[in-house]
Amino acid sequence: MHTYIPKKRYLDNKTILVTGAGDGIGKQAALHYGKHGATVILLGKTVAKLESVYDQIISDGGNEPAIVPLDLKGATAKHYRDMASTIGDQFGCLDGLLHNASVLGHLGPFAQISEQEWQDVFQVNVTSQFLMTQALLPLLKKASDASVIFTTSSVGLKGKAYWGPYSISKFATQGMMQILADEYDNSSIRFNCINPGATKTAMRAKAFPAETSDNLKTPEEIMPVYLYLMDNETSKETGQTFDAQPK
Ligand code: NDP
Repeated sequence: MHTYIPKKRYLDNKTILVTGAGDGIGKQAALHYGKHGATVILLGKTVAKLESVYDQIISDGGNEPAIVPLDLKGATAKHYRDMASTIGDQFGCLDGLLHNASVLGHLGPFAQISEQEWQDVFQVNVTSQFLMTQALLPLLKKASDASVIFTTSSVGLKGKAYWGPYSISKFATQGMMQILADEYDNSSIRFNCINPGATKTAMRAKAFPAETSDNLKTPEEIMPVYLYLMDNETSKETGQTFDAQPK
């Protein structure tokens, strides 16, 4: 799947929601899904960034996207239920969901993690995914086939000193994906995780401020696996974690 080249417009008639669609990896995924024919629902915090992705999808010849400005930090179950109801009214079903948005928080010793820091990172990285997935399950079930992608990290596979709540939130993300995949085995919905690997984005720069980023992969270069997992004709996997940059 790392060399996967999709058929032109293989996502025609599909509706895909991408969280954190305004920047970094989520932005590239939204642009690629849009280019391949999907109607993309752009969810994120900064409206100006979402509007710029919207404009780029239109200028690439894509369908008109939808914009959902939402700060995952403050969002409640009601926000997700209302969002699901609007998506249901507008599109009828949901064919794809990419849980991509997350925050790094502050890196530092476990002994110094504040309760507020813990809660903020878990709210954005875990609780929002739980509430959003629960609210969207009825629409995912209505699609003929649906793919849900979560985003993990190398530190969500093996704990690492000083990566604190971020690392633990990624373990939780893996757990959520595996539970859903098991519960929905033999259904029309697949659940998988992608570990992007070191990728040139704002989050990577924050985590490694002294690093020279020239040798890092760009979000665009890691897109094949994001495209592959949304291809319900070719990709049949569920419950798996994929490295976007296998060693
Ligand atoms: P970026 O920080 O570049 O982008 C994160 C996106 O998430 C932004 O669009 C941001 O919106 C959005 N977001 C953050 N907080 C919120 C919030 N409270 N509500 C709504 N949207 C929010 O990150 P990356 O592109 O690097 O990361 C994407 C995913 O990949 C993450 O899950 C990350 O953990 C994972 N990952 C990344 C790696 C890397 O090397 N880059 C390595 C391993 C995993 P806004 O810009 O408006 O703040």
